[in-house]
Amino acid sequence: MSEEKSLNFIEEIVEADLASGKHQSILTRFPPEPNGYLHIGHAKSICLNFGVAKKYGGATNLRFDDTNPVTEDTEYVDSIKEDIKWLLEGTGHGWKQELYASDYFEQLYGFALDLINMGLAYVDDSTSEEIAAQKGTPTQPGVNNVYRDRTVEENLQLFSDMRAGKYKDGEKVLRAKIDMASTNMLLRDPIIYRIKHAHHHRTGDVWCIYPMYDFAHGQSDSIEKITHSICTLEFIPHRPMYDWCIEQLGIYPSKQYEFARLNMTYTVMSKRKLLQLVNEGHVSSWDDPRMPTISGMRRRGFTPDSLREFCDKIGIAKRENLIDFSLLEFCVREHLNKIAQRRMVVFDPLKVVITNYELGEELLLSENNPEDENGGEREVPFSKEIYIERDDFMEVAPKKYFRLAPGQMVRLKSAYIIQCDEVLKDAEGNITQLNCSYIPNSKSGSDTSGINVKGTLHWVNVATAVPMEVRLYDRLFTEENVGAAEGDFKEYINKDSLQILPVAYAEPSLAEATLNERHQFIRKGYFCLDKESTKEKLVFNRTVTLKDTWAKVNR
Ligand code: ATP
Ligand code: MG
Repeated sequence: MSEEKSLNFIEEIVEADLASGKHQSILTRFPPEPNGYLHIGHAKSICLNFGVAKKYGGATNLRFDDTNPVTEDTEYVDSIKEDIKWLLEGTGHGWKQELYASDYFEQLYGFALDLINMGLAYVDDSTSEEIAAQKGTPTQPGVNNVYRDRTVEENLQLFSDMRAGKYKDGEKVLRAKIDMASTNMLLRDPIIYRIKHAHHHRTGDVWCIYPMYDFAHGQSDSIEKITHSICTLEFIPHRPMYDWCIEQLGIYPSKQYEFARLNMTYTVMSKRKLLQLVNEGHVSSWDDPRMPTISGMRRRGFTPDSLREFCDKIGIAKRENLIDFSLLEFCVREHLNKIAQRRMVVFDPLKVVITNYELGEELLLSENNPEDENGGEREVPFSKEIYIERDDFMEVAPKKYFRLAPGQMVRLKSAYIIQCDEVLKDAEGNITQLNCSYIPNSKSGSDTSGINVKGTLHWVNVATAVPMEVRLYDRLFTEENVGAAEGDFKEYINKDSLQILPVAYAEPSLAEATLNERHQFIRKGYFCLDKESTKEKLVFNRTVTLKDTWAKVNR
């Protein structure tokens, strides 16, 4: 983060609050609902909540918003923790406390009793259809029903019976008694408790009534003394209810602030839709490398630094916008260029025999990373027989073709200059081999100023080549703004988003690659080992191409 960068509006608020003495220190929270894996939108929220707290010497709680037992699961809790840890890796920052809204169920129940005692909540026997019908419309006020006038005693008894499990799901609800004519529909006596006979991932079967989001979130913030409760814009209409609860209950006044959620081109960002992609087999799993999930991006080889840089670059807006997926890829490329180890891999081999090479096998040195002066070198075996990329040769080449062609010279990366002398073909006329000769004193680093060679090719020594599977990924959707496109979002899935090359040939050092390493396959892109890779069968993922090629092909 550059020092001169202007403050985002959340930072401005925090600075003002610290300067005025309203707060001595700040406490934020990240409140995921454990009903799916985190996506890049959540990454933005994490960067904001943890980032602002870190910047101003405050802290951040991780609070699982687990008030809906039906969709929640500990698998998600575990993945969320892992993803946040990974995203914040190297920042020296993490959550202060791991908390659960379900830990506050007893306290929240107490708050509901307080409201009932103040005459500010009532048990309603209406069906959900009746409640919806009585609610009115944005232009028409709602109507008060008969249950609204129940006595405090009656409400206390009924609410306690609800808790005790006397009623079935949907038979009764507890509502806040606010104003059925409010211009804010969310203040027209919102439901604050509902009956759900469902097993909860933490509280088990202790509860059969569960608080609604609007009754749990603000109070949980308040219990923890969160100073700045940052959420996305769709919660603006919920803010009056947030404030109403805090005010009526006389509890710690946490404050809610809203920013624009992250939307990105060529992808979807709702857990519900992502779950559909997984359940219906459009992708292999939540961490499929095409998914916009943090786990998918991690598996694909994106780095936490690049995701944080991306979140920083796009900033914090007050209005919805659509961010170009290419910007994320740009950040990934920039970081990988600095850290990736250069390696040579041939995807579509064409055998080259260097007819005048008589040295057996030679170990050549090749730099690991020209961007890193401490990157060092590695040994790359070279011999008479090598593979080059089939499309690095043309039998009839145009004028400005700098790769290999009959009679033409190229440099082999970190090796020698070779010239193509002969093209061998099979009975069908397919090229099967090139016979070349090399210039003995043209080894990389030697003076070859008299020789005019423009192209440099990557190559792999045949005898020591390591086979690997390579998985190439592209945009998951063909439509730029999937959310706004007509019809079912799944109609826009990019059928070519995964291309598998069963056998590519790599230099031997890649057999030792580990999951955390990042590689640039020279002239091919950035790659990393996939978690499905084994010693017997290496599998690599392409993280991102070297340049932005999408625009050219698809526009
Ligand atoms: P989804 O719409 O994907 O289901 P959600 O809002 O229901 O997401 P939560 O687990 O409730 O998911 O979100 C945790 C936090 O992350 C919330 O504070 C939420 O506002 C924030 N968040 C969710 N999606 C985005 C996004 N696209 N951009 C920025 N913040 C987001
Ligand atoms: Mg939510």
